[in-house]
Amino acid sequence: MGKDSSDLFGALFDPPSTNRVVPVLVPLPVPEAYSYAVPETMAVEPGSVVQVPLGPRQVIGVVWDGEDDPRIDPKKLRPITQVFDCPPLTREMRNFVDWVASYTLSPPGLVARMAVRAPAALEPEPMVEALRYRGGEPDRITPARARVLDLVRDEIPFTRSGLSHAAGVSLSVIDGLVKQGLFESVFLPPPPVVAAPDPDYVAPRIEGPQKQAASEIIEAMQTGGFSASLIDGVTGSGKTEVYFEAIAEALRRGKQVLILLPEIALTASFLERFQDRFGAKPAEWHSDLAPRMREKVWRGVVTGEVRVVAGARSALFLPFEELGLIVVDEEHDPAYKQEDRVFYNARDMAVVRARIGSFPIVLVSATPSVESQVNGQSGRYHLVHLPTRFGEAAMPDLHLVDMRRHPPERGGFLSPVMLRAVKKTIEKGEQALLFLNRRGYAPLTLCRVCGHRFQCPQCSSWLVEHRFKEQIQCHQCGYSEKTPEACPECGTFDHLVACGPGVERIAEEVEKHFPEARTIVMSSDLLGGVKRLRLELEAIAKGEADIVIGTQLVAKGHNFPLMTLVGIVDADLGLANGDPRAAERTFQLLSQVTGRAGRTGLKSHGLLQTYQPQHPVMQAIVSGDASAFYEREIGEREKALLPPFGRLASIIVSADTRVDAETHARGLRAAAPKVSGISVLGPAEAPLALVRGRHRFRLLVHGRRNSDMQAYLRSMLAAGPKVRGTVHVQLDVDPQSFL
Ligand code: ADP
Ligand code: ZN
Repeated sequence: MGKDSSDLFGALFDPPSTNRVVPVLVPLPVPEAYSYAVPETMAVEPGSVVQVPLGPRQVIGVVWDGEDDPRIDPKKLRPITQVFDCPPLTREMRNFVDWVASYTLSPPGLVARMAVRAPAALEPEPMVEALRYRGGEPDRITPARARVLDLVRDEIPFTRSGLSHAAGVSLSVIDGLVKQGLFESVFLPPPPVVAAPDPDYVAPRIEGPQKQAASEIIEAMQTGGFSASLIDGVTGSGKTEVYFEAIAEALRRGKQVLILLPEIALTASFLERFQDRFGAKPAEWHSDLAPRMREKVWRGVVTGEVRVVAGARSALFLPFEELGLIVVDEEHDPAYKQEDRVFYNARDMAVVRARIGSFPIVLVSATPSVESQVNGQSGRYHLVHLPTRFGEAAMPDLHLVDMRRHPPERGGFLSPVMLRAVKKTIEKGEQALLFLNRRGYAPLTLCRVCGHRFQCPQCSSWLVEHRFKEQIQCHQCGYSEKTPEACPECGTFDHLVACGPGVERIAEEVEKHFPEARTIVMSSDLLGGVKRLRLELEAIAKGEADIVIGTQLVAKGHNFPLMTLVGIVDADLGLANGDPRAAERTFQLLSQVTGRAGRTGLKSHGLLQTYQPQHPVMQAIVSGDASAFYEREIGEREKALLPPFGRLASIIVSADTRVDAETHARGLRAAAPKVSGISVLGPAEAPLALVRGRHRFRLLVHGRRNSDMQAYLRSMLAAGPKVRGTVHVQLDVDPQSFL
């Protein structure tokens, strides 16, 4: 044997005594992976989920791609503590994490953290203990015991609780039989998180234009590779039915499916509908899931056991084994934007994930975002249009109530026109919804004698009175105090006045006019949390309320068969702020709310109280001419080079003192590179100048569509002042909020 080959064998069979070095992403806001040594006995590869020491702690990290730096001596590095027993993140998933980090200018370790779970989730689920009949008879037979023995005689094992349930006997009956030695312990594999969905559980029931729409999407899927479709259709046109067929096709092809929904926690009816079509519920993913369930779902997703997940935006970072379709329902919804730590828009990042994974994505909305409309019109997205409601259901008849001509009585907020409509509706035994997107009793409370306003001690926002809870609350930071009996400024008793309405105040007005009616107030601060909200929504659907007063919580996806009147208390509410998307948002929200009415064929109405009946948004809604509205809105965006015709990024500088925040923001501004096509506005004090005791300044970077925003921001940060003391700089690429 020659020298060369013996060297080869040496290299193969005698691994070098020095350890390997690998990059590991740790959950820290640092720009790069850290290097760790790999103990000789450990096998890791890119994507492996590991535990590593970090200072005095042990944290979860992910082995990342990249060359080992030959200059690093592994002996000087700390070794990886352990590798978890779960499949490594796929290359696709790693590319996705890198892409999101680079696009949003976020630390990659913080993005990776969204894709992995706590250690318990990474260990295989323990086997479950069960009882198997080993023969013999009990000392004495009772009817309960007989029922148990009937079930177990063929030696199929049951868990203790499963057996008591199946036989309809108490646990003590089972325990009694166990004591007599009739059973032996066996171990069973853990039950699946959800049963497998069956694409052919029932026949598809799409028809007419729905059929055409579904086949267009399925065709795109059959061609293979990345494709993006936008299903644009009024509420009730059958969009869900159509994308269910796309899901069925993906399942037939052996792919996993992700359905993103805003407010998933409240869409129990969606899960049931899915079950009717596929014979099993999808796995849920949202922040209200019990920790143990989250772990199970996570594990089911990586191993491929879970085939379909319906989840909130964070589900986008689940490390699917073989994802083959993403559906983004209500794609225009602002809830897809995360504004915490990693600022990202899940709708946009979902498109990226589909492109990286080379599979189709379907965006769905009755009122698509201007961005998606433009992509649809330009042909980047495949546009699928469903113009009419399915079957008998007609769109509600929409009218404006000109509040200047039909003002409410003193101290009230509901026009006589609105009150008459509510009366007529409940007299027929139907339901009315009064919509106001404002929690609490009143947005502002002040003292009638000295004019004192109640302001949050930590934020620059007014405290909102919540009468049911007898509190005044900050909607910014959650601060609350008991509603004071006397003004803290001048000491006068009973002189506090509420300015403007919240849902609680509308409820009070409704009770005055309709004391007999059953009313429900629905808002996210309802005591009892998500569980209670789900129950209330079910009660409304069953007709157990006459009048519902609610915030945007009731706008989303629910089906209330008896709801025939939707009244918008303040249609102008969203138009007032300085947000470039104010008109679009108002249009979307109002369309969505009025779309709650008349989903089952009953004649239905929508009434919008407004002081600006000529406003294009109001006109677009009542005329039903959405395309004219979009055309105008798109034209204005194009003129102003606003997204999607230009690019925006926000820089929010905050600090414990105003001067620190402002100085740092000015320093950044001075460091802005001079390039054509990109300009910087500000710094200016943020509209929310103080949040949780931190002073905030904002810069807005505006670029042409083709400008390299990320490179620009990076060089600005690099050339800018060092981040010191309490200063924090937050980047928000493609901002949705300008507060
Ligand atoms: P969207 O998602 O556009 O709001 P849905 O898919 O929820 O519309 O459909 C509205 C209602 O019409 C639902 O109750 C749905 O079950 C029913 N529906 C839609 N298409 C069909 C169909 N082809 N056959 C039977 N029912 C349908
Ligand atoms: Zn506050």
